[in-house]
Amino acid sequence: MQDADVRGRFHVTAAWVRRISLLAVLLGAVSATAFDEEQPGVVYPNGVVTPRRDLWPDPIDSAAEFDRASRAEILVFAHALADSETFGDDVWKDRLGIDTVDVDSIHHTQHDLWQRVSQNYAIAARGCAADEAFCPATPEANSFRQEAEAFSSDIIQPRYKAWFDDATRFQETYLNDLLRLAALFPSSNNEIEIFNGNEMRGWKLQDRHFLLSFDDGPTPGPKREGPSEDSKAANTDLTLDMLRRNHVNGVFFSLGASFQARLRDSSVDAMKTLYSGMCIGSHGWTHKSHARWPQWQDSVASSSKLIHDTLPDSYVPAFRPPYGQRLPDSGPYFQRRGLKVVLWNIDSHDWDDALTPDDVRQRVMSLMLLWRRGIVLFHDFFPRAHAVVPRLISWLGHDDVTWVNCHDVDWSGGNRSAARSGDATSNQNR
Ligand SMILES: [Zn+2]
Repeated sequence: MQDADVRGRFHVTAAWVRRISLLAVLLGAVSATAFDEEQPGVVYPNGVVTPRRDLWPDPIDSAAEFDRASRAEILVFAHALADSETFGDDVWKDRLGIDTVDVDSIHHTQHDLWQRVSQNYAIAARGCAADEAFCPATPEANSFRQEAEAFSSDIIQPRYKAWFDDATRFQETYLNDLLRLAALFPSSNNEIEIFNGNEMRGWKLQDRHFLLSFDDGPTPGPKREGPSEDSKAANTDLTLDMLRRNHVNGVFFSLGASFQARLRDSSVDAMKTLYSGMCIGSHGWTHKSHARWPQWQDSVASSSKLIHDTLPDSYVPAFRPPYGQRLPDSGPYFQRRGLKVVLWNIDSHDWDDALTPDDVRQRVMSLMLLWRRGIVLFHDFFPRAHAVVPRLISWLGHDDVTWVNCHDVDWSGGNRSAARSGDATSNQNR
């Protein structure tokens, strides 16, 4: 037990070293006032694992192929989920590498995950032909759990075995990451759960609908770039250009301080041109946890006002808390101000310097197959999104996946928004 504790602490420490390196990059690239000096996000003791999509032996070039690959990912994840329910409450600290574990929150999340994967499997299995791979053995609706428990390398066709081993490694680690978020919730809260109906994560989008989101910008802009200057300065511009070239849009959650700096360096008209056709909401004035910052309301109000007053056509009344952290009782504040709190359910991890763009792409692909809908978290601050997103779009260009038009999302905060928050139509038709 003691060894495991020491090992857990060592892993957390190693992860913190990576985080601190990341912070150095952040601080070097953007005004030091825009980012918190203490990184309060969740650490990943085992690093972030990515899958190898090339081990999947079939092309994913039709709705039926998408569904088959989706069923396969769902079964692997659900098998890991079933396994996780056999652990006693005492094993979580070691398994998750953290000192304080909210076991009730883990159980709640496990229950929630079962509901989502059961529903997704039923949707993905609707078109199952006789004897098709990864389809239900029996028509009974309640057999999914047994299917998942029995799912193993022994019962799948040999051609899928290499994929299976890799997918099992990925989905087990990904499940641990989700349960780690749950174990910390609500005391150190994050995106794993919502506090009220005015918060959204992306689950209410329709099947195969995905909304792109980009955080932490804007970067200073290409004019700031030079031989000896920061090469990340143009990342926001490159991300926006990429979206326009691919005829999609997305929602940007920008930092007030960075937005103000770029505005001072350019003009209102330049900012309007920069974000034309996009949606832009607030990520706070600076990148601090809004659950630990006494002035968090000022941060939300001042950044939202600046963005609204500068870009009234692109502004959406939406706030994304840095690290997903907001106070559990902050709901009435956001409802009074008509702001929706927007989280995410597909985390690309594109900020992680340990991952290549290809790692990020494969991770997002597997999570899109697993969850089949949602808000994908990218960062225009970092360079990976503008390499990854075009490949995702071309991967699914032949399919009936929809990249949601950010202007069709109901961003309005307050009580009336909850019922319509999943309503959205296609991005590609505009
Ligand atoms: Zn952020």
